[in-house]
Amino acid sequence: MAEKCAVCKEKVEQTFLGKIKGTFIGKKVVCSSCQKKFGKDVVKHI
Ligand SMILES: [Zn+2]
Repeated sequence: MAEKCAVCKEKVEQTFLGKIKGTFIGKKVVCSSCQKKFGKDVVKHI
């Protein structure tokens, strides 16, 4: 199951343990680079 970043629409990669390289905000996924880019303001970009 490939999740897509709610901000940049890129596929969010997973680690070999199946953890996403990103974070869930509600039911949406944000990749770690968007998270870094926008910080807490990322919510406004979803
Ligand atoms: Zn992203």
